[in-house]
Amino acid sequence: MSRNVTRRVAVTALASGAVFLIRKAHGQVVWQVNASRCVNSRLGEVGVEACNLCTSSCVVALSAVRAVNEYSKCGRCNICPAYFNIASAVDEKGLPSEKLCPRDAIARKPIGKQDPEDPANNFYEYVIDEEKCDGCGRCVMKCKEPLGLGSITLQVRYNRCLNCNRCAISTDCPKDALEQVPLPEALKPGEARPTV
Ligand code: SF4
Ligand code: SF4
Ligand code: SF4
Repeated sequence: MSRNVTRRVAVTALASGAVFLIRKAHGQVVWQVNASRCVNSRLGEVGVEACNLCTSSCVVALSAVRAVNEYSKCGRCNICPAYFNIASAVDEKGLPSEKLCPRDAIARKPIGKQDPEDPANNFYEYVIDEEKCDGCGRCVMKCKEPLGLGSITLQVRYNRCLNCNRCAISTDCPKDALEQVPLPEALKPGEARPTV
């Protein structure tokens, strides 16, 4: 093999390796909301309006961001401040008469046998319908102390996200809460990264 051919082969191999590494790195770094910085989930941010820029700034029509309930942290409360509008009138069952979510995206399902005498003995699973949720953040703002346990946060859903080079939400976010994080290889599309 001539010296020129050898050099061409070496350069081609190096270039392919570089492209592979760039692609690999690109595929492993994704945008995610840092819940400890998002105004909706930040402890101490109470009495202010929920920030809905994750909904309006995303380039995807219904946004790539969703509210995600981490069940292991959820109190499964009878009166959930993220499910009910707790400022609304109480109905005949002693529950707030209005729901909080403007898109009716949260379902309430009883867990186990219900005690009709004492509602405090009854527990519920709160499931977010990701086809309806647009990540407006209202439920997130309510699911934190003193009434909630902080189990609901906003998270970028990777099966919806276009992984833009510069996330449009990161440009607008008042708390600089969008960050690029490595995507664990085990993560499947649609799964959320654990809260960081
Ligand atoms: S733009 Fe920032 S502060 Fe507003 S909801 Fe999104 S992550 Fe939270
Ligand atoms: S983020 Fe908004 S749309 Fe989604 S479940 Fe919460 S209140 Fe409903
Ligand atoms: S990277 Fe693009 S598609 Fe993904 S959340 Fe940001 S703006 Fe939306």
